[in-house]
Amino acid sequence: MSDCVFCKIIAGQIPSEKVYEDEEFIVIKDIRPVAPTHLLAIYKKHIPTINDLELEDSQKMWRLFEVIKTVAKQQNIESYRIVQNNGKDSGQEVPHIHFHIIAGRRLGALG
Ligand code: 5GP
Ligand code: ZN
Repeated sequence: MSDCVFCKIIAGQIPSEKVYEDEEFIVIKDIRPVAPTHLLAIYKKHIPTINDLELEDSQKMWRLFEVIKTVAKQQNIESYRIVQNNGKDSGQEVPHIHFHIIAGRRLGALG
């Protein structure tokens, strides 16, 4: 997707602070962190929301948990929150599937 900020980051057209990369995922530091550690695990294929996932991709994405474990160990965070937004009302700003990894402070209730 030519106008997608995350596709541009994946393609190296926009700079980012990368902490992990493999065939399916890239993990970068969020540009506007809400906590001392705020990372984005981005699925490399341009798929806007969970609702748009095909079986093949949702199967590939199960490896996300391995990616998160690896990154959590690397970043030395034991306690963290995963957030994933779908659609406007959820607060999704970038319509390209990604998972926030938030840590480093005591987090409040969801809502
Ligand atoms: P969403 O609201 O879609 O779940 O989250 C999008 C996240 O992407 C936001 O937390 C925002 O700060 C982050 N973001 C938006 N543009 C950029 C960018 O160009 N670089 C990086 N590293 N993060 C970005
Ligand atoms: Zn994209």
